[in-house]
Amino acid sequence: MGRRRRRKVIRVVKKSLPKIFICPRCGARSVKVIMNAGAGKARVTCSICGLSAELPVSPSSQPVDIYCRFSDLFYARKLT
Ligand SMILES: [Zn+2]
Repeated sequence: MGRRRRRKVIRVVKKSLPKIFICPRCGARSVKVIMNAGAGKARVTCSICGLSAELPVSPSSQPVDIYCRFSDLFYARKLT
């Protein structure tokens, strides 16, 4: 077996870490979910086609949950 490469382990403790998801409109991996737990909101934006929404969040929401709601809204044609 080959040698193991050393990997740097970087722990990120930021709570507002943006996550990248697939855009339901343009299909690019370019959708960011930026949590703003203090304001009870999250902003979801595609940096390729500009699709964006601001959604209310609860403190326990995960970025993937918000992304699911974002894509639901898109498929329900509630986003422009
Ligand atoms: Zn897009």
